[in-house]
Amino acid sequence: MRAYVALGANLGDAQAAVTGALAALDGLPQTRLAARSSLYRSAPVDAGGPDFINAVAAIDTALAPLELLDELQRLELAAGRERPYRNAPRTLDLDLLLYGEARIDEPRLVVPHPRMHERAFVLLPLEEIAAGRVTAAQLEAVAGQAIQRL
Ligand code: ATP
Ligand code: CA
Ligand code: CA
Repeated sequence: MRAYVALGANLGDAQAAVTGALAALDGLPQTRLAARSSLYRSAPVDAGGPDFINAVAAIDTALAPLELLDELQRLELAAGRERPYRNAPRTLDLDLLLYGEARIDEPRLVVPHPRMHERAFVLLPLEEIAAGRVTAAQLEAVAGQAIQRL
């Protein structure tokens, strides 16, 4: 199944965390990295701390959605992720954006990610590697957000 994962980090060496996570995605069981966007820099939204480094990865995986979420959360923990409060700065955040055409609504997992269309730091990198999954109207709606392609 083709899935899309959003990567973000804004603590420590955020660029290294995102680059390392891209490689780690390729190393997950039954999974390979199919494409990756450029890196982006964005200001925190409703969050404190330094700017974020963001990217989106396309993966081909045989993991089921919740198995994939388990692996993503394992990678977050391995990167030192803590959740002291909502929207806290983070060493690594991995969000499952899309899993094929699946619509999932479970306590632990909602797909498509419910806030992805509000976020330039998701839509711009996603558009780079999956243009068909982002519409011009969606891009227009986030055009005012400060973000820089690196
Ligand atoms: P946001 O979801 O708005 O980007 P966040 O990434 O900061 O916020 P987290 O603290 O990383 O939120 O995640 C909270 C919970 O969201 C996770 O424990 C996970 O079970 C749940 N969750 C629901 N849907 C998804 C998804 N599509 N991808 C990742 N986590 C999800
Ligand atoms: Ca997130
Ligand atoms: Ca998350």
